[in-house]
Amino acid sequence: MPATDLQLMEKIVSLCKRRGFVFPASEIYGGIGNTYDYGPLGVELLRRVREAWWNRTVVERDDVVGVDTAIIQNPRVWEVSGHVGGFSDPMVDCKKCKQRFRADKLQDARCPERPSKHPGECGGELTEPRAFNLMFRTHIGPVESSAAVAYLRPETAQGIFLNFLNVLSSSRLKPPFGVAQIGKSFRNEITPGNFVFRTREFEQAEMEYFVPPADARRWFDTWRAERHRWYLDLGLAPERLRLRDHEASELAHYSDATTDIEYEYPFGWGELEGIASRTDFDLRRHSEASGVDLSYFDPETRERYVPYVIEPAGGINRMALTFLIDAYGEETVEGDTRVVLRFHPEIAPITVGVFPLVKKEGMPEKAREIEAELRRARLATFYDEKAAIGRRYRRQDEVGTPYCVTVDGETMKEGVVTVRERDSMQQVRVKVAELEGWLREAVRGWRRPGG
Ligand code: ATP
Repeated sequence: MPATDLQLMEKIVSLCKRRGFVFPASEIYGGIGNTYDYGPLGVELLRRVREAWWNRTVVERDDVVGVDTAIIQNPRVWEVSGHVGGFSDPMVDCKKCKQRFRADKLQDARCPERPSKHPGECGGELTEPRAFNLMFRTHIGPVESSAAVAYLRPETAQGIFLNFLNVLSSSRLKPPFGVAQIGKSFRNEITPGNFVFRTREFEQAEMEYFVPPADARRWFDTWRAERHRWYLDLGLAPERLRLRDHEASELAHYSDATTDIEYEYPFGWGELEGIASRTDFDLRRHSEASGVDLSYFDPETRERYVPYVIEPAGGINRMALTFLIDAYGEETVEGDTRVVLRFHPEIAPITVGVFPLVKKEGMPEKAREIEAELRRARLATFYDEKAAIGRRYRRQDEVGTPYCVTVDGETMKEGVVTVRERDSMQQVRVKVAELEGWLREAVRGWRRPGG
């Protein structure tokens, strides 16, 4: 990794801690390797990313509905889905330092004793690769017996397949239609890392789109394009995104085509989201194993078939990290370094900062009044009266607040405020009475600078 990129990641991790996006988990007890908690701004960022995904995938469409399914399901689910037998990464152990690494990701890992080297290059001998199951096991009930073994779900998709018939019979939908879910998944990752890019618990956003088998390819192409478009619409740099089709040898056991949407992270290209054509593998396997017929009878064509499934699957935390990295910028302004997060206003944790120019002449009271009004209109606001106005702008730039409203002498006399834009740093005068509408319009019309 070039030094500058390493530094960029370090800067982002430190900004996240300093400004309350992401904290190391269990920090006062020394942490718990690569596990993180989200602070006041981080939780808002996650909420906005989740909502943007849900709005686009469910709310704005008439062919997709949502579910929220249990994390712990009948353990048979994971045997039938192939996760008990096959959900494993090939692992090697270093005989010298006793650490375990993913055999297919040695180039991404560092020797814990000599971080400038990859495992195996430090003189330590590596074992032959062995399969390691990634599912977290637990027990149901008071007795830890093998009969009571259960698993924390490693993906949300299976909960959707299990409810295929329930959704079909309780809604008016017929294929093609989709069922979406956002929720926590758990994987006992051996090499978590790169901050929140890979963690052992994370939130997934998945959608299973059920189609007649003959239409699977067309819908795969449609969702591939739609998911790419979503990232562009939320402002990610087009040149740092690419679609990578899997080679036949890479495909998961259930898939006949998969494309990864990859992003160029400071640590290299990595998967941001996967779009998989899952054939009828899951519905067919669950039909066979449960004895419940999960096929669909089309009353118009009088045909019965097991739908094929197209699945866009992404991680909310990984998306939020990607938006953070992509938004990060540094520039010199009047001899100072300005750090700015150029978030799309829809996902910025704070939409508008509200400041009195000075702490007198009724300005704080007026600013608080305006802030309260914007709050009531459900805009995310932040009131600040400390320090010089320039410093207050910079503090909001650093957390990605797209607009700052300043109450000054003219507000008191003529009812107009100054709105300062984060990206251009330009200021415009807006009537207080028109402020909410102006802000909403600006959020809707935002374009990536230079894009
Ligand atoms: P990888 O090859 O990176 O382990 P995967 O191909 O197993 O990932 P999927 O099973 O396709 O990942 O999961 C869908 C999405 O969930 C990924 O694109 C990613 O955004 C997210 N995701 C998967 N594993 C993790 C993790 N350990 N931490 C954070 N997000 C994850």
